[in-house]
Amino acid sequence: MAQKTLLKGRVLSFNGSPFKGDPTDAAELHEGVLIEDGHIAALGTAHDLSKAYPDAEVKEYGTHLIMAGFVDPHVHYPQTAIIASWGKRLIDWLNSYTFPEEMKFGDPAYAAEIANRYLNLTAAHGTTTMCSFCTIHPESVEAFFAAAQSRGQRVVAGKTCMDRNAPEGLRDTAQTGYDQSRALLEKWHGVDRVSYAITPRFSPTSTPEQLEAMGALWAEHPDCLMQTHLSEQTDEIEWVRSLFPEARDYLDTYEQFGLLGSKGLYGHAIHLEDRERDRLREMDAALIHCPTSNTFIGSGLFDMNGLIQAGHKVGLATDTGGGSSFSMLRTMAAAYEIGQLRGRPLHPSQLLWLGTVGSARTLRMEDRVGNVTVGMEADLVVLNLASTPAIAQREAGADDVWEAVFPTIMMGDDRAVADVWIAGRLRE
Ligand SMILES: [Zn+2]
Repeated sequence: MAQKTLLKGRVLSFNGSPFKGDPTDAAELHEGVLIEDGHIAALGTAHDLSKAYPDAEVKEYGTHLIMAGFVDPHVHYPQTAIIASWGKRLIDWLNSYTFPEEMKFGDPAYAAEIANRYLNLTAAHGTTTMCSFCTIHPESVEAFFAAAQSRGQRVVAGKTCMDRNAPEGLRDTAQTGYDQSRALLEKWHGVDRVSYAITPRFSPTSTPEQLEAMGALWAEHPDCLMQTHLSEQTDEIEWVRSLFPEARDYLDTYEQFGLLGSKGLYGHAIHLEDRERDRLREMDAALIHCPTSNTFIGSGLFDMNGLIQAGHKVGLATDTGGGSSFSMLRTMAAAYEIGQLRGRPLHPSQLLWLGTVGSARTLRMEDRVGNVTVGMEADLVVLNLASTPAIAQREAGADDVWEAVFPTIMMGDDRAVADVWIAGRLRE
């Protein structure tokens, strides 16, 4: 008989979008969640669940908040070792810090070391699923997938393709980019909990020929995600304009090569023109907001409210290591702060939804991860809402769960993460 585990605590489940109507109406609280065979089998009161499953192993979490593990849909795991590098803006940041570090990932041992370090750091912060850029080296993809597979994690990643404007040793070609991406995709996509994402870094580092080859590969494998960057900084947009003089705008450099679609993930998307917004919405493409990166690199203020109200699909991500934290709590805090600068404070329900359900939707995985409902995979984070004295004194006076959780969103870190469950197993 399958092992059953009953977690008791304050269980947070979403039944709709907190961006429609009262943000608190989209959430439900339960007293327990029953895990069986790596999946969520039941939710309910502690009394009912104990009665229905008398043989379940019980884990008591008291007033801790049990919710879906965080989903981080835009990261660069190879930038783990250069996070918080000082003083550059996007293009200089890539040349000064990113490219020299990414050069090392042809070495499988180094790639494995960083992949494991990254997955340890993020699990400690409660993140259970992520979508990562790798480097141009197939070894970097192999290392990441192998590390995630050994932990039973649901992850997405792809070989980052670049065939120009990158240093020697960090360039492929249109053909080798296509061939290596296809081989990795065929080997890994759909194996255990691993998925492949076709990954041109961004238009400035790919020739039209490479973008065309990536578009062809996506057309051949339409069930895959495609991830890239879009309109992060104004200097970058000018550069794209000079590299693609025929294009209508930045988005068009993807669109004309078959790289715009509902399974496309577009990181940043800050300085969008009206045509770009319209096309992204028509195609139901995913926009990934990376707030700590946007402030750290000085990129700009994402229009969360305007884009969501217009019907865009939006996820929330760290953008490690352009982002300055591995923590999705810190990322939610930064999203809150950017919302404030744009005159719209996000409700705690909206912040938690963005970092779980919203991000899972961008990965087209909302039926598997990112929420605590029956049938979902049991990837959970257990948050201690009184993890430091400063947070505890705020939580003690809270009238409801939102007041109780907001200080943890704003001030919490890995000390707030009491436990992490991956596919129904407690992470040691
Ligand atoms: Zn990025």
